[in-house]
Amino acid sequence: MKRQVIIAMLLSFVLGLSVPSQAQLKPRADAFPPVEDEVAPKALQMASSVEQMASWDRYPTYETYLAMMQQWVDSFPTLCHVDTIGTSIRGRLILSMYIAPQTVDDLYRPEFFYSSTIHGDEITGFVMMLRLIDTLLHGYGSNPQYTDLINRTRISINPLANPDGTYNRGNNTVQGSRRYNANNVDLNRNYPDPFASTKAALQPENEQMIAYVSAHNFRLSANLHGGAEVMNYPWDSFTSQQNPHPYSDWWVDVCRRFVDTSRTYNSNHFRDTYTCGYTAGGDWYVISGGRQDYMNAVQNCLELTMEISTSKSLSSDRLNEYWQFLQHPLVNYIAEIHNLPEGVSISPIEPLVDKSAFPNPAAGTITLRGFPAGERCVLCDITGREIMRFIAQDEPLTIDISNLPTGIYLVRCNGGVTKFLKQ
Ligand SMILES: [Zn+2]
Repeated sequence: MKRQVIIAMLLSFVLGLSVPSQAQLKPRADAFPPVEDEVAPKALQMASSVEQMASWDRYPTYETYLAMMQQWVDSFPTLCHVDTIGTSIRGRLILSMYIAPQTVDDLYRPEFFYSSTIHGDEITGFVMMLRLIDTLLHGYGSNPQYTDLINRTRISINPLANPDGTYNRGNNTVQGSRRYNANNVDLNRNYPDPFASTKAALQPENEQMIAYVSAHNFRLSANLHGGAEVMNYPWDSFTSQQNPHPYSDWWVDVCRRFVDTSRTYNSNHFRDTYTCGYTAGGDWYVISGGRQDYMNAVQNCLELTMEISTSKSLSSDRLNEYWQFLQHPLVNYIAEIHNLPEGVSISPIEPLVDKSAFPNPAAGTITLRGFPAGERCVLCDITGREIMRFIAQDEPLTIDISNLPTGIYLVRCNGGVTKFLKQ
């Protein structure tokens, strides 16, 4: 028996906690083959205008979603902007709201990332993320906790990672939403598996997401799903006995705080899979190609998976109930970035915009600015595979990329990263 198991059992005995046992397991709704929810159409009310979202008991149409993001930028121009992560196969935008006041020195604040609904039918998190954006923006300057958190943290929130899955039957309904993207691929099984030698061809949504996270310096993140209520910390690729995550103890503390806080508002939640409300991913169900393990192993970003609603496509009249018990733990989880495990660097000082690649896209040569002479640089492809290393000789620096295959590439040095598209 492993030491961790013995300690966990002792702890459980001392603290009166229940040990998750096989008897408590139910099939992972997030697993393959997926369990599809059948929701009555009338249970998924749609908002066809920003005004109709005011009571937060509807799902936005695709156009309403875009209008909400635009309205926040218009209302809080010095507090937020929208980044375009990319576009889906069917041309829908994959967006991220960046929240950070321009008046605060940007260099020393760690970067946090929320992303939801990589499975297009798991739509509770979509609305929770929209409401979180709204709450943080309106709370800045009036709510001391939110103001302090925003002043100390660069926060990015991607409410909808798989818009083609969510709006599978068109932009005006989430009825009939589906897990997969338009290529019929499960995006949360398509990330480069850091522990496997064979890797699936990247789907466009994931390729663009990887470029986006690679160009940032996220240190803590979460990927929101539905179909169960359980916090799922790394690894997903192994059981905790095979290969415990080096920060398992920290993850358990974080998960416990999240679940405990939610239960002070509604004690009925986070009980459907494990009574404690959390698990190491692989102890529940081992998967390969998930985003969580990719983010941890390749991007050096601590990410967990939040399964936040027993129903994947929650009836819209229950969205307020879910916000009630999720609001505070979701905010508090962002603040965990200031409480990372000992030894984890919160954020190397990262210059803001002085790294650039021109022209972009490029075909023959590319000129890089912001890479000082003598700096050690690495050119990698979108999966993180190293193409070449070089030491910058001139500023600006011109390199020949004519032999590279078409795709997105990253150039890193100590001080930051830039990306370009090879045509
Ligand atoms: Zn999922």
